[in-house]
Amino acid sequence: RDFEDAGLHPVMLENVKLCQYKFPTPIQAYCIPSILTGHDVVAIAQTGSGKTAAFLIPILSKLMGKARQLAAPRPNPLRYNPVTDKVRAEPLVLVVCPTRELACQTFDEARRLCYRTMLRPCVIYGGAPSRNQREQLEMGCDVLVATPGRLVDFMSNNNLLSFRRLKFTVIDEADELLSTGWEEVMEKLFQGADVNSDADHTYLMFSATFPKSARRLAKEYMEDECIRIK
Ligand code: AMP
Repeated sequence: RDFEDAGLHPVMLENVKLCQYKFPTPIQAYCIPSILTGHDVVAIAQTGSGKTAAFLIPILSKLMGKARQLAAPRPNPLRYNPVTDKVRAEPLVLVVCPTRELACQTFDEARRLCYRTMLRPCVIYGGAPSRNQREQLEMGCDVLVATPGRLVDFMSNNNLLSFRRLKFTVIDEADELLSTGWEEVMEKLFQGADVNSDADHTYLMFSATFPKSARRLAKEYMEDECIRIK
C-alpha cells in the first residue's frame, strides 16, 4: 500500500513526502483509511510504530478540504496587542498526551504536517511558565497538543479556550494517562463537556496496552473500531 492510493489531500501528500515517509507503517495502513471514512478508532500501538502520523495525516487531510473556512481567525501580528486583543482559541483538533516530551514530539510532527495547510498547531504543557503558551494560543490555534494538567488549567479559564468547534479528540498513550490519575478528566473529554455536539465528532484512542479502564471508556463513548498492531 502507498500513501498515493490513500485518497489524501494533495497538500498532505506533499507534506508526507517532505517528511520523507515513503511507505505507510502497518498502523498507518490501517488507521488512515478508517479515519478518512470517519470511524472512531482504538489502536493498540507502541511508540515508534508511526502512530502520531497515523492520526495526524488523515485528520489534517480531512480538515484540509475545508481549511480556508475552518482555520482559526488570526490576529494581525503587526497590530496585535496581547493585553487588549484577547482571541479565544477554538481548536478543531485536541491531542492529549501524558508527558511533556511526547507532547513536544507530537507538536513537532504536527508542525511539519501542517506546512502550507493554513492550520496552526500549538502545544501546552506543565512545568513551564504558561504565559508564552497562552500568547501562542491567542495567536490562533487549530490543532492543540496538550498535557492534561495544563489543559485543565487552561480550560478553567473561560476566556482562553473553547471546544465549540472541536471535531477530533485524540487520547494518546491512553493507558499512561489512565494509570496516572487522569481518568476523570478523560471521561469529561469523552462526555463532550463544552465540545461541539455535531454527530461528526471523532474520538481516537492510542494505547500500548488496553487495560480495563481504557476498554470501559472505549466501549461507553466510542463507536469503536479496534485495531491491534504489535
Ligand atoms: P511515533 O510512533 O509516532 O513516535 O513515530 C516514530 C518515528 O517514525 C517518528 O520519528 C516519525 O517521524 C517516524 N515515521 C512515522 N511514519 C513514518 C513512515 N511512514 N515512514 C518512515 N518513518 C516514519
